[in-house]
Formats: sequence, C-alpha cells, structure tokens
Amino acid sequence: MSSRDYYEILGVNRNADAGEIKRAYRKLAMQYHPDKNPDDKSAEEKFKEIGEAYSILSDPQKRRQYDQFGHTGMGGGFGGATSGSGFDPFDIFREVFGGGFGDIFGMGGSAGRRSSHSRGNDLQIKLRLSLEEIAAGVKKKVKIRKQAVCETCHGSGSKPGSSMSTCPTCRGAGEVAYRQGLFSVSRTCPACQGMGEIIEHPCPTCRGEGRVRGEASLEVDMPAGVSSGQYLTIRAAGNAGLRGGSAGDVIVLVEEAPHRYFERHGDDILYELPLSFVQAALGDEVEVPTLKGKAKITIPPGTQNGKLLRMRGKGITHLNATSAGDQLVRINIYVPKKLGEREKQLLRELGKCDCIYPPKGEKGFFERVKEVFD
Ligand SMILES: [Zn+2]
Ligand SMILES: [Zn+2]
Repeated sequence: MSSRDYYEILGVNRNADAGEIKRAYRKLAMQYHPDKNPDDKSAEEKFKEIGEAYSILSDPQKRRQYDQFGHTGMGGGFGGATSGSGFDPFDIFREVFGGGFGDIFGMGGSAGRRSSHSRGNDLQIKLRLSLEEIAAGVKKKVKIRKQAVCETCHGSGSKPGSSMSTCPTCRGAGEVAYRQGLFSVSRTCPACQGMGEIIEHPCPTCRGEGRVRGEASLEVDMPAGVSSGQYLTIRAAGNAGLRGGSAGDVIVLVEEAPHRYFERHGDDILYELPLSFVQAALGDEVEVPTLKGKAKITIPPGTQNGKLLRMRGKGITHLNATSAGDQLVRINIYVPKKLGEREKQLLRELGKCDCIYPPKGEKGFFERVKEVFD
C-alpha cells in the first residue's frame, strides 16, 4: 500500500472532480503501463500506485473517508485489500479503458460500456511453422501493421492540454433514454458514441481518432501440438479502438510447413530409413534425425523391409499436455544397383545357401504393417 498522498500521485488538486481524476489516471496509466515499459520495475510500481490512488479517489465514499482520515483512515477494510489479495491494478485499468489492454498479459475478460461500439477490428495473420517448432511449441516475434493507440493523446483523441467536456446530449451518461410505447429504452448516445465526453480540440496527430496506423511487433506463444487450420487468439493485440475503446484481437492461423524427412500422422511422425540388407540381416545401431535432434536406434537382426520401429516420445508433444507422440521409423531395404566383380562373387556364394531365400508362406508387406499397428 502506498504511503504517498493519492492526490499527489495523480497530480490533481484536492477539489478535482471525478472527470479530472479519471483523465489524470488515464494519462498516467498509459504512460506507466507495463506493456509500454517492459522490464521496468519502477514503472510497474508506479502503475500499481496510480491504480491504488484512482481506486480510492474514484469511489465517493472511499474518497470522503480518505479526505477525513488520510491513509490511517484507510487502514481497515481497504488497506488490507491493497497489501494482500483483491487489489489488481489491471482490473482498474480495464475498468477505465474498457478492457482494451491488459489482456495481452493473459488476464482475460473485457468490460466497459464503450467496448462494443468503439472496439478496434480483429486482425488475422498466418504463421508458418516447421514441424520442429510444432513439436516443442515456439515463441515467435511477428511484425504486424495495425492501428495503434496514438502516442500524442494516449488514445483520448483530445489535443494534449485541452480538456474534454461533458457531452451535452447525454450529460455524461453515455446513454440516452427514449420512449417506445409504454417503455423507456436507453441506447448509446449518438453525439458522443457512449463516451459521455466530447472532444473540443482534436489531437493533431490522430485527428481525434485516438489511434494511428503503424507497425507493431507481437510475440506469439504457440503451444506444442498445433496443426494447420487451428488458430490462436491474442486478445486485444489487434487494431486499437476508437478514442481509447478496447482493441480488437489478433487471430493467428497456423500453417504447417512440409518437412524434408518427416511425415506427420497426428502426433506421431514417420521417418523412412534406408538400410542395406546386410545391416537388416545382421542388426545394427544407426543414427537417425528426430524433431529434437539426432538419436540412436537399434536395428534388430533379421529386420524386414517395411518394418516399423517405434521411438517412444520422439514425436510431437500433444496439445495441452506434456506427453508426446512417437517417431515411427520405417525400414526401407536398399538393393545395390552397381556391384564390382568381387562383390558379385560374394553374393553368388551367399546365394548358394537356402537361408537367404524367403520361406514359403511368408506374409506380405501389408500384413506385416498391420501387425505392427495392432
Ligand atoms: Zn491523438
Ligand atoms: Zn453523449
């Protein structure tokens, strides 16, 4: 809990009205938001302090209590809440900004009456991933073109230093009531688009929109086990909303790049291993590529062509799990095409033995594959 004066923190005087307090909070919160100050601990502290000050001064009852008794007066109910659980500066931020930000930190949810009509558009991007990236999950930085919050006015749309004025149509309520038969129905105020305030002097940078075209870099944290056609939604990373309205989402569509060696079957991957019939007959230990680096595999003596050997857990990590599929290695016996005189001689010698010919009633390839899968 902060020991500094709440009015001082927000830079407003003691008789500031609710609108002034809100504007001061918005300006400071935008400036010190951890999103804008990555790895800056002091900004994070400041952001919390601003949130705390605003949460007290924006609540008439708490503010009265604070005015009368200062920090000591807050000691009971609220003080406990700030130092312990319950107080979340991001919740306050979301409340004021209509859920437009914050979500990028994975806090979810969106609230605020301005979020629907002034919300920014969603953006869709394609992200091509290699099987290696899919196997283990990957964090990727991508550049996107989008409408970003205007830095001149911090999204307010109002020229810095100029003030907003209460909307005369709805008197700040953001809604207007009209009669429909016996009922009174309220709808979003058309004069201020529900903001409750109107801009007197538009910001010169964004002409009052509160957002500008720009480029942003986005970190996509793709979990393992995704496949083509699936998508990930990054909340509030899309186009900024109108005048501080909540931002749209970014929808990241997964595209799987074909692999040089591997074929994907669900979360298993298939690798074709060419072997000489000598290796297959005598057995061997060979190195094969896997999605997680090279690994050794033992070829048992008498391994048949088409045989599938299973390397457990060397496949793709299942989506939302820690276990993984397998790598299947299919044996592909290579028959030499060019032989020297001596080699031909040796083979002819070998060919005299019945043991190198298939026994009668030997199962066909498909039956053998079926056996492996059963
Ligand atoms: Zn602006
Ligand atoms: Zn209005």
